[in-house]
Amino acid sequence: VNRIAKKLAREGVHVRASAVLGAGIMGGGIAYQSASRGVRIVMKDIAEPALELGLSEAAKLLGKRIERGKLTPADMAATLGRIRPTLGYGDFGEVDLVVEAVVEKEEVKKAVLADVEGRVRPGTVLASNTSTISITRLAEGLQRPGDFCGMHFFNPVHKMPLVEVIRGALTSDAAVATTVGYALALGKTPVVVNDCPGFLVNRILFPYFAAFNLLVGEGVDFLRIDRLLEKFGWPMGPAYLLDVVGIDTARHAAAVMAKGFPDRMDDSGPSALKAMFEAGRFGQKNGKGFYRYV
Ligand code: NAD
Repeated sequence: VNRIAKKLAREGVHVRASAVLGAGIMGGGIAYQSASRGVRIVMKDIAEPALELGLSEAAKLLGKRIERGKLTPADMAATLGRIRPTLGYGDFGEVDLVVEAVVEKEEVKKAVLADVEGRVRPGTVLASNTSTISITRLAEGLQRPGDFCGMHFFNPVHKMPLVEVIRGALTSDAAVATTVGYALALGKTPVVVNDCPGFLVNRILFPYFAAFNLLVGEGVDFLRIDRLLEKFGWPMGPAYLLDVVGIDTARHAAAVMAKGFPDRMDDSGPSALKAMFEAGRFGQKNGKGFYRYV
């Protein structure tokens, strides 16, 4: 996959400096990954505590690498020095690519993208990390929709190798090439996909979750399903994976998938996922989902 990606990346701009909007779970992870791979990154949020949290998470990951003897304290300081936390747009004129990783709300993303478009040079790629919103739709309010595409990382960013690069209806070949190159520079495996609900990975994952829901609905113990899938060789079963993804996040994505593919993804009936959500069990993020976390 990366041989094809490398060829494609040669047609794009080499990203020397990047930016990320949002210093949350994903934005913080993207900043860490970029800085670790030697690419400077401006990390912008609207809240100072979010910036502090994003930086401290990066420092924690780097600290673990020092403990394992993989990094020196000087390397750690240099890596952190490549992340520039900010509440403003001051440095955005210097960057080659911006990843948008703010909250998953279409109106917020559209407003943020229109705002940032006015702060960057033409040709700077804007890439959204959205999981469920159409890239073509997000481009609607932009002056330069050709410079916009999706760049969908998975959580946790530093561990998950795949990155989906999503081509919207108006995305230029150059924007795709630049984003593919950036993903490679971050040590990831980019895959270029078309814009559709769920892109590639969630189109596969959510029918799998739906099958899991059906089995649990028929009375099969979720623990048995998880154990069997582990024996099958997968790193974790569907119940545990849903807890990792977040029950609320998965619930929202399942509804989007059902709307996008009504013939294949019926989400109208009761399900184990809905029951967890209604019980306020959101998975690892609040300490209880299918499993309990202490
Ligand atoms: P999060 O809630 O942890 O972080 C969002 C951050 O965006 C917050 O720090 C918030 O202060 C900041 N923010 C809000 N408005 C902003 C603005 N106008 N400018 C700058 N920052 C702003 O969310 P997250 O889990 O990191 O998700 C971010 C995006 O990544 C969403 O689109 C989500 O769908 C997507 N995503 C999430 C996951 C996941 O597993 N968490 C995986 C893949 C993709």
